[in-house]
Amino acid sequence: GTVKQYFDDRQEAINGLLRWNRHHLLAATEGVVIADSKAGIFENISIDSRTLRTGDVFVALKGESFDGHHYIDAAVQAGAAAVVAEQAPVECTSGVLYIQVRDSLQALGQLAAYRRQLLKGSLKVAAITGSSGKTTVKELVAAIFNEALLPVRCGVDPLLKTKGNFNNLVGLPLSLLPAEAGHRLAVLEMGMNAPGEIAQLTKIADPDIGCINNVHPAHLLGLGDLHGVAAAKGELFTGMRTDAVRVVNCDDPLVRSLADRAKGKQIGFAASAAGRRYNPLVRSTRQVNLGEQGMRFTLHIGSWKRRITVSLHGSHNVSNCLAAAAVGHAAGIGSETIAHALINHAPAGDKRLAIAELPGGLKVVNDAYNANPASMAAGLHTVASFGAQCRRVAALGDMLELGPSSERLHADIGSLVAQLGYDRLLLTGSFAGAVADAARKGGMNTENIQIFPSPQAMADAVWRMLAEGALGKGDWLLIKGSRGMRMEQLFDELLHRI
Ligand code: ATP
Ligand code: MG
Repeated sequence: GTVKQYFDDRQEAINGLLRWNRHHLLAATEGVVIADSKAGIFENISIDSRTLRTGDVFVALKGESFDGHHYIDAAVQAGAAAVVAEQAPVECTSGVLYIQVRDSLQALGQLAAYRRQLLKGSLKVAAITGSSGKTTVKELVAAIFNEALLPVRCGVDPLLKTKGNFNNLVGLPLSLLPAEAGHRLAVLEMGMNAPGEIAQLTKIADPDIGCINNVHPAHLLGLGDLHGVAAAKGELFTGMRTDAVRVVNCDDPLVRSLADRAKGKQIGFAASAAGRRYNPLVRSTRQVNLGEQGMRFTLHIGSWKRRITVSLHGSHNVSNCLAAAAVGHAAGIGSETIAHALINHAPAGDKRLAIAELPGGLKVVNDAYNANPASMAAGLHTVASFGAQCRRVAALGDMLELGPSSERLHADIGSLVAQLGYDRLLLTGSFAGAVADAARKGGMNTENIQIFPSPQAMADAVWRMLAEGALGKGDWLLIKGSRGMRMEQLFDELLHRI
């Protein structure tokens, strides 16, 4: 009791020092006071007047479809004790501290960075970026960190992690801002749409460990080509301190070349024989796809090894496990602990590779959460590995934001569908024709390829196939497309009719 009491008191004291005061807010944001108040201490940083609580600091952000400056009054009504904004309101409510900044999005990042720096000595931060698998790796790292933190768990959760997919210049600061004295490890996801964003996120998070999971064609619109994507992800490695550890996917030549150009400590991981030639510390061998049961492989960390089964699907997830293991190792966590966490990790029940069985026995992989060429290929390979004697249907929507290469990248998907032996291909979107043509060229029968005006129209066709017995018990349906295609409507429509 007394030792615990000592640590609790100590933490309490440090948290007291961490609480936002006038000096902190001004030092962090480099803002100008336009109306002062007597309040000494402020509670949390908030960007939403609806969830803001008494004593909080309201940061007025300008988005594409909203402007937080319109909600300053609402925030003050809700109890905001300070406001950080780009424009001064016509009338400042007395008793509220108003700080004017040049760019409130930047100010939000600066506040998070300030908090991060205060906790530098006690909080280790891992950052995950890449084109695909960021959230998956983040969750796996969180599982490993949690396992390692079990012995020190008392009172507050010592792990801080990105909530959901909060990976941009708004989400990452919001994930980091709740950091307290009791937090020991943090794992943050970093995403981007434009060059310079990862550099900014890296500056805010100041990671001790940074992983570039892979570089695939995604978000090509803002970044030009694959090399543009690589350069943008590379901002993590170049922005990190030299004494921080860079986690390198040796299977990916673009990540390897980013690592070659970066200074500082590195840890590699690889699942392929080609990648293992670069002597990565973390490796997998003897991979077996157990289908619905998951993946089995031998995990190597240096000279240590163990054969493990994980309940994640597809070979891309073995690679994600290796990335997480490498991050865990970089954080000083033992190999047994890492293996234990991976074995016990069960993926969260969200839209990512959720397998549902319809009453008639048709199994549906609802991967409608998002799609880019790599994740589309991963999904197709994964479902192709499920079941032996069964029929497989791919219901695909467009992959958006791919710019001038769209036509070609969609054609690649059509070829893959044919090559993997899918029985039926259902398509919707502007690039459905490109996918269909390539699938036909790849040897698929024309009558097995259909194009629909919407996911709902697709549901009619699937429903008919079920009624006619063209689909049934033990068969597989893969649903995938970019977020904006709203392919989950197909799944919802099917459920609706049962
Ligand atoms: P987002 O950019 O939307 O945040 P993300 O990078 O966080 O995506 P996840 O949400 O983990 O990625 O996974 C999205 C999809 O990407 C998965 O459903 C899977 O099909 C695919 N995927 C996951 N990991 C990999 C990988 N290592 N290589 C290729 N595809 C992957
Ligand atoms: Mg994500």
